[in-house]
Amino acid sequence: MASKYVTDLMAEVKAKNPAEPEFHQAVQEVVESLAVVLDKHPEYRAAKIIERIVEPERVILFRVPWVDDQGQVRVNRGFRIEMNSAIGPYKGGLRFHPSVNLGILKFLAFEQVFKNSLTTLPMGGGKGGSDFDPKGKSDNEVMRFCQSFMAELFRHIGPDTDVPAGDIGVGGREIGFLFGMYRKLRNEFTGVLTGKGLNWGGSLIRPEATGYGSVYFASEMLATRGETLQGKTCLVSGSGNVAQYTVEKITQLGGKAVTLSDSNGFIHDPEGITPEKLAWVMELKNKRRGRIKEYADHFKGVTYHALDPKADHNPLWDIKAQCAFPSATQNEINGKDAQNLLKNGVYVVSEGANMPSTPEAVRLFLEHKILYGPGKAANAGGVATSGLEMTQNSMRLSWSREEVDAKLRDIMKRIHKSCVDAAAAYGTPGNYVNGANIAGFLKVANAMMDQGVI
Ligand code: NDP
Repeated sequence: MASKYVTDLMAEVKAKNPAEPEFHQAVQEVVESLAVVLDKHPEYRAAKIIERIVEPERVILFRVPWVDDQGQVRVNRGFRIEMNSAIGPYKGGLRFHPSVNLGILKFLAFEQVFKNSLTTLPMGGGKGGSDFDPKGKSDNEVMRFCQSFMAELFRHIGPDTDVPAGDIGVGGREIGFLFGMYRKLRNEFTGVLTGKGLNWGGSLIRPEATGYGSVYFASEMLATRGETLQGKTCLVSGSGNVAQYTVEKITQLGGKAVTLSDSNGFIHDPEGITPEKLAWVMELKNKRRGRIKEYADHFKGVTYHALDPKADHNPLWDIKAQCAFPSATQNEINGKDAQNLLKNGVYVVSEGANMPSTPEAVRLFLEHKILYGPGKAANAGGVATSGLEMTQNSMRLSWSREEVDAKLRDIMKRIHKSCVDAAAAYGTPGNYVNGANIAGFLKVANAMMDQGVI
């Protein structure tokens, strides 16, 4: 029976990867979805595809020493998880955040394998980063850190091997410093990183892509019920790259985004975050690197709610709305938050962040049959556009904004359709979690079958 298989497999994963709860959570969700596939395809079981897919192809762990502005030596830890390259070079972001550890990066790399497969582009899965905290550091400190990080990472990556990008704490500034150091060390100008500046190989729409894609995915889900975002109130968490462009696209499509947050708290603006207010947030977050609290001091009619780390729920998710776009970090919606969302009338959840809902929250969303788009489908627009950046780099040309946006929109439509079709084919119509996991898995599994025991 597949269920005994899942239980045994999870026991082995937990024993082999102790103290990595986020990795266990990500694997559990995927293998539960795949039970029915494994029943239908005993050949995957015989070839130990799952046992292989949960084991990274390679893990690189390294020391990152650097000197701060006071002349003190600092030491951080650098990682790159090269998870699976059956369908293309490893691809996935770098996260710089004090919470980064091996288990968190393994969960992200594991999710990335299925997400990248869903995009229909030829990209394997990887993830990396460091426990370095860019917050409060000067530009020079960030540069010295990035240079030291790349002084080791450059040996392991390349445009046909592994192509990192940004994630939490890694935006345009960090990608610039990393790319500069790679170019110097290798004496090569190649598309080894994505999210690059427009003057040096970047793609139009890449900064916007994850947020825009998550809103496109929500629109596709709504379309299955003959609805649009027009007039809908939307809750957005985070205030970084993904959150900013989520708000922009919600507004463009006629919805009203009323919240933004950072790790200290959230703002509630019942009038809606207009394009003018969003421009102010972008200046605050991307240039001045300030806190979201300042929004409530600057604009009238806005309330600020400081985060209470001891509370059992986040009041951001307890506001009347129809749609929610979690766009900050993993496990930011727990069971209580999910209950509050449902109670307040939210029936669309599109995950810009990776694994922002706990298993209990996911269970509630599925039970209530709301339109729930899991991160590996809903936020795949970011990596898909990174794939488009790689294509443009290889062809040595740049597509227009309209061309890239049209391709992104089309990819999100196709991802949505793959999820819908796979969920229906395996007996759970409307379940985007199963749909995403199954559709993402099949392509990678078949490639692994074709390529032998590697
Ligand atoms: P940014 O660093 O630009 O922004 C992250 C935002 O989330 C900030 O507002 C940050 O607040 C907040 N945040 C981070 N950690 C926490 C925490 N532990 N608790 C509360 N708030 C937190 O990152 P991105 O916008 O790029 O990434 C956001 C999410 O989207 C992540 O889950 C990422 O993996 C996912 N994602 C990103 C993609 C991309 O293209 N960038 C692609 C696909 C997924 P503060 O400033 O206080 O830390």
